[in-house]
This record gives sequence, structure tokens and C-alpha cells, in this order.
Amino acid sequence: MAYLICENCNHYWQINSEEEFWAFHMCDECGSPLLYVKNLNEYRKITKHVPESSRKTHTHRKADNYWRLWRGGNLILIAGALMTPAGILLTVTGTTWGITPVLLGIILMALSVPLIRASERRGMGWRKGHEGELIVTNCLRRLPEGYHILNDIKLPGAYGNMDHVVVGPTGVYVIETKSYSGNYIVKGDRWFLNDELRKEEVRSPSIQAKRNAAALKEFLETRDIYVSWVNAVVAFLSASCTIMEEDEHCRILKPCHVPEHIMESRLMLGESKVKRIVDALRKHASEVW
Ligand SMILES: [Zn+2]
Repeated sequence: MAYLICENCNHYWQINSEEEFWAFHMCDECGSPLLYVKNLNEYRKITKHVPESSRKTHTHRKADNYWRLWRGGNLILIAGALMTPAGILLTVTGTTWGITPVLLGIILMALSVPLIRASERRGMGWRKGHEGELIVTNCLRRLPEGYHILNDIKLPGAYGNMDHVVVGPTGVYVIETKSYSGNYIVKGDRWFLNDELRKEEVRSPSIQAKRNAAALKEFLETRDIYVSWVNAVVAFLSASCTIMEEDEHCRILKPCHVPEHIMESRLMLGESKVKRIVDALRKHASEVW
């Protein structure tokens, strides 16, 4: 029997299938991401309970900044909404400058609305991205001892961040997390949105993952660490993604299936090499498990 566990409130729920996890992946009580395990015995075997080191990820910081902007916008709105009637009251009671707070209040309210809307719209995207990262981390934590999870890696000189890198006896994996809504069709490394109202090609997460994998391999070479290849994976969060044509260089998987995929690969790295790779990457990662 599968379970969803909230480690924050120490609650757990029994579920019938993994599909239920996708309908219910955040805790109702506290909003923490839930940990999905196939049985409670598997939970007992989990060794990664606290990160070795942890800072806010880029996505988390962005989500927080927009949340602050949204709160600021609401405070401005409240200030404007209080000032206007106060000014009217002053004007009615004969105060000559009473019109000033009325005008100021109206201006503040007019300015706050676009600020609230924009921060809500953009912040939502970052928040969803942050939730996605937490869910994928929770799934990766099922990897046994000997595997290292490094989150939000920014390599020197690189343009973007890598969401997750896993290093262990079966190799090095770059995982790109995508939480899209809507229906997607994948043909090789091309991605298409296929909704009733919108049908279009979108930016390919597979190409991004492969580019990051190549960049990571190159970075390790500059540190005199040579691996035959770095695997690219896209962890796809939304329920609907139809893969018409498999891309042999980049697997697209539900987050819960990523650990199995990593573990079923052939062994290729010795313990000392794993350690060297993790040491080279550690300081460029926001979080290490
Ligand atoms: Zn909870």
C-alpha cells in the first residue's frame, strides 16, 4: 500500500495508486510537499532526512520576492483605501487641504492594482516551480546511501541553473524539473502544447537538460574529472504528457520514477570518483542532500 507522508506535521495518508499523489501532492494542513513511498518499509529505509547544507534556491528566492511585492501592493492598496474616505471627511468638515489625501489615496489605489496583478501572475509561476523542485527532491530522497542530491547548481560562467544533479555509483544525472499545466506531446526533443484552444511548439525541456548535461561534463573536465557521459532527465510534473517518440539521450519521467531509472543503470563510478565529483560541485549548489 502506498503512502503520502508529511514530515512537517507527522501525518501520513494511505493512497491506492501513484496517480492520487498527483492530485494531492502538498499537505492540506501546512502546505509542505508530501513524500511518496510505496510502503512504510521503504520510508524506514530512507536515509536522507535532512540536507547536508541548505540555502534558498534561485526559484525559491524569486517566489519569495514576488510574494513580498504582492504584500507591498496590498499595503499600498489599503493605505489608499483608508486615505480617500479620511480626505473626504476632512473636506466635508471644511478643511481646505482635505482634497490632497483624497487625490493621493486614489493615486495609490490606482498604482497598487497593476503591481498586485503582475506580482500575482509572475509569482505564481515561480511558486509552482519551487513546489516542483521540492516534490522532485522528495522523490529523489528515496535513493539509497551512496547517492548525492545537489539542488540548484549554478556553474561559473553558465547562463542558467541546473535544477538537480544526482551523483552516485550508477553515474551523474542532470534533472530538469518542469511543472506545466496542459497536455503535451513529445517527439524526440521537440515539445508541443496540445490543448483545445492552443496548439504550438514550446521551448524544449529536453534540449535544456541535454545542454546542461554537456555543460556539467565540460565543467568536470576543467577539474580533471572525466566521466564517459552525463545523463539528462526531464522530471515532468503534470499528469498529461504523451511521448510519441523517445529521445534516447534524454529520458522524460514522472519524478517518482527517476530514482528507479537511476538505480537500474549499470555501475560506472567508484566511491572516490563520486566523492571528487560531489566535492567539485558542492559549493555551486544551493542545497546538498
Ligand atoms: Zn503538513
